[in-house]
Amino acid sequence: MDAPVLAKSLDELKLRQSVQDTLPGDRGSNQIRQTPGVCYAYVAPRTPHSPSLVALSDEMVDALELHPQITASPEFLHLVSGGELPEGMDPYAWCYGGHQFGHWAGQLGDGRAINLGEVLGRGNSHYVLQLKGAGKTPYSRTADGLAVLRSSLREFLCSEAMHHLGVPTTRALSLALTGEEVIRDMFYNGNARAEPGAVVCRVAPSFVRFGNFEIHTARGETELLKTLANYTIRQDFPHLDEPTRSDDPTDIYIEWFNEICRRTADLMVHWMRVGFCHGVMNTDNMSILGLTIDYGPYGWLEDYDPNWTPNTTDASGRRYAFGNQPRIALWNLNQLANALYPLINKTEPLEAALSAFAERYNDRWRSMMANKLGLIDFREGDEALIKEVIEILSHVETDMTLFFRALAKAGDPGDTRALFKCAWYQEDEINDEYLNRLDHWLNDYLVRLASDNELSDARMRRMNAVNPKYVLRNYLAQVAIDAAESGDFKEVHRLLDVMRRPYDEQPEYESYAARRPEWARNRPGCSMLSCSS
Ligand code: AMP
Ligand code: MG
Repeated sequence: MDAPVLAKSLDELKLRQSVQDTLPGDRGSNQIRQTPGVCYAYVAPRTPHSPSLVALSDEMVDALELHPQITASPEFLHLVSGGELPEGMDPYAWCYGGHQFGHWAGQLGDGRAINLGEVLGRGNSHYVLQLKGAGKTPYSRTADGLAVLRSSLREFLCSEAMHHLGVPTTRALSLALTGEEVIRDMFYNGNARAEPGAVVCRVAPSFVRFGNFEIHTARGETELLKTLANYTIRQDFPHLDEPTRSDDPTDIYIEWFNEICRRTADLMVHWMRVGFCHGVMNTDNMSILGLTIDYGPYGWLEDYDPNWTPNTTDASGRRYAFGNQPRIALWNLNQLANALYPLINKTEPLEAALSAFAERYNDRWRSMMANKLGLIDFREGDEALIKEVIEILSHVETDMTLFFRALAKAGDPGDTRALFKCAWYQEDEINDEYLNRLDHWLNDYLVRLASDNELSDARMRRMNAVNPKYVLRNYLAQVAIDAAESGDFKEVHRLLDVMRRPYDEQPEYESYAARRPEWARNRPGCSMLSCSS
């Protein structure tokens, strides 16, 4: 295959404006307002005072086919931090609504995200570039449209880490500092402080959310709903038929909704596999493409506790706790079904798709758990083995990631305590009764493994390909934030590098695979996060 011709200057980027060419937008001022009758509002990003680039994702640079000459240029820095844009970009903010914590919240919209436009990259794939933290839009409501380094760094690193883990996600091209300060009260307790301002350039085929459809239905804008649905199908579900070419596109919409349900189910299985907790699964934070979107107060499960949430705002209700995520995804899909109803006017196919979600999720979750355990596939009877290991995991504080990595080494008769020591947070919890239970389970497990007749090397390889060794542990991100806030970005680059190969042994980075140190147990940023970002 010929090497791609890389764009050497921003003028050579292949740009597209399919949103602006197809959907109605509001060309007013940046003034905060309701925008009925349109899908988005044109808005110019704010030019930062003295921007500087902190980090780039090499993989995204490659996907966008950007020459190093571009990424080193001042024009590029302007592009990804909010300065002057190349000819042909006409930025806009999406109008969307959403159900927040179970309640309809009306118009929300991109309050601090500005879509620059689409770039055609590798393989002629389209990528929307979006700046997060580049100032106010008509949807900023009472907030400032800005973002701080702490949350931007978490989004930048985590979206790239998720990609390398094989989890569908929006991506990040760059992290830049604005050179300005932003005031935030991190825990809403009267302790506001000035923090460094930052902008992440996010990238995805589309940033459309469930809430984009909900807002038009809530406003009775059925024609607009249809236009947006047709656009989304044409753009991002091109394998489905083109709705405008059909006299009755109902079946296409039904097939589309089925696919959204399938993608969302698969996303939930991935989150449960790697131990990711989103933290704010409002319908405005659900991607129509089934991508992980909007990295706010997310967190990684350390000790296995399905009831754990990283989000302090959700600490009392735990609506978005780790173990609730699949159920909440279904609840959110129900809201999307209501929003799409005017296109379909029948409840039965929508209900069937929602039932299929539950079936697919359960099915895939079982296979995923079987794979995590190293079984070739899920068999009738494996249910009990899975149920018992989950109970054992929850019984004492056990690091989920380290447990499954250690389990791959089980096989030779050995000392159970030595095998799992690395995964236990409180060794004094490990008594004989617990060890007996674990040994008993291990025995059953090894008998079951033997029935697969697979060489243990091959099994270990399969297990290590689904059980990551390296995840972006909450405290690791916080250590990088602390250093970055004092101007040292080495840790950001190191983490970006470690998270590139999460399933591989990386002896030079062994310490990044260790369990959370005790000092981080209750430290803000490591164990609890708020939406303030
Ligand atoms: P979230 O649940 O954090 O994704 O955000 C919910 C809504 O609040 C969305 O409409 C966001 O765009 C908006 N929002 C969050 N933070 C800010 C901010 N600093 N400035 C403006 N809008 C914001
Ligand atoms: Mg959001």
